[in-house]
Amino acid sequence: MTVETEHSRKYEAIKAEFPGIVTKQFECDTGWFPILREFFAVVRRVNPKGKERDFTLLQIKEKLGGLRIYYRLGKRVATAAETQIHAAYSAAEARAAGTCEVCGRPGVFRVQGGAWLLTRCEDHAEGGVPAPPSAGM
Ligand SMILES: [Zn+2]
Repeated sequence: MTVETEHSRKYEAIKAEFPGIVTKQFECDTGWFPILREFFAVVRRVNPKGKERDFTLLQIKEKLGGLRIYYRLGKRVATAAETQIHAAYSAAEARAAGTCEVCGRPGVFRVQGGAWLLTRCEDHAEGGVPAPPSAGM
């Protein structure tokens, strides 16, 4: 099984778990998928069945070594629900910053080739060295 089919298999599983909410491909590696699943569990909880249209997933990607989830909330979404979703996103972002994007084990923010930023464990560092705390921030 290639890495790519594993990526799509895991993506389809999450998509099936959150119909109407997961509507875009994940442009990050599978190590962060459990983090995304937790985020979508919160989205589902505050947008029960039939209210999926209040949440629009725009894009999920790795950027500058961090997890980014872009979404839009409908006007009918209550402030409390909005707060919960934003909090879930902050939590996901923070958790991804300490999680290897490839395997999901603890990872650190690394610089590869002097410029490329990624969050990886020792096994998946691919030459990346731990970044100084200020890098990419
Ligand atoms: Zn790893």
